[in-house]
Order: sequence, then structure tokens, then C-alpha cells
Amino acid sequence: MICKPDAVERGLAGEILARIEAKGLRLAAAELRVIEPDVAELHYAEHRGQPFFDGLVKFISRSPSLVMVVEGPEDTWRIVRSLMGVTNPADAAPGTIRGDLATMTSENLVHGSDGPDSARREIALFFPTLR
Ligand code: ATP
Ligand code: MG
Repeated sequence: MICKPDAVERGLAGEILARIEAKGLRLAAAELRVIEPDVAELHYAEHRGQPFFDGLVKFISRSPSLVMVVEGPEDTWRIVRSLMGVTNPADAAPGTIRGDLATMTSENLVHGSDGPDSARREIALFFPTLR
């Protein structure tokens, strides 16, 4: 999971992490860091060619993100995604992070892996030394 630059800039990283922890999930790793454009392009490779791709890379690398590995029961990625809410904050349900705290798809505060394969890939990309 990532608290994107807008979340850190707005001082919402603590609120977001509090929701993750209150749900019963735990941090296995975390680092505040700038996601450089080359890493951002790898992270969002599935979206290469989309009209929003360049803006997405620019946004995600503009200031530090809180990059995290969140640990919990089987299919923790699904729990995180449901806490996040859907991609467009205008459609995200109240009670979700995006539904409560964001207004725009381009600045929707959080990223969450969308399955076990992407979780493995993203953990390896951001925390290559994590066992
Ligand atoms: P994320 O991968 O960041 O967790 P997501 O899985 O909900 O978000 P994706 O479809 O993977 O959504 O899109 C990745 C990110 O690209 C979105 O979070 C959003 O910031 C941006 N994005 C997606 N679609 C659009 C769009 N139509 N216009 C602008 N930005 C978009
Ligand atoms: Mg996604």
C-alpha cells in the first residue's frame, strides 16, 4: 500500500495508517521516500499508453510517499482495497479513505495492490531486501 504524495502533503498519512491499524492489519515495512519516475513507470507499467500515464508518473514522484507493506490474514490486499474505496473518489462510498478524504481521481490519496501477484511484484520493487 502507498500513501501517495497528496496524502503526505495534506498530513493524512497518520489518519490513513490509523484506519489500517484499527481494522486489525499491521505494518510489516514502511518508508517515507520519493518514488522516482523510473520506479513509478515500473510500478504503473500496466497503465503505460493511457492518456493519464504521464500525469500519473509526475504526480506520484512529485514529493515523498509513505510506501508500506501491510500484513494480515489471507487476501489482506482485498481488505486494504475495500478500506480504500473505488478509484474515483466521487464514486467511493462514505466510510472509505477515498470516499471520506478525497475528491479527484488524479489525487486519490492511496494505492493498494490489486491481487496477490501485484502485491508480490510491488513488494519486490519497493522492498527488495524484505525476506
Ligand atoms: P491504484 O493503482 O493507484 O491503487 P486503482 O487500482 O484504484 O488505483 P487504477 O486503474 O490502477 O486504479 O489506476 C491507477 C491510478 O491512475 C489511479 O489511482 C488514478 O490516480 C490514476 N487514474 C486512473 N484512471 C484515471 C483517469 N481516467 N484519469 C486520471 N487518473 C486516472
Ligand atoms: Mg491499480
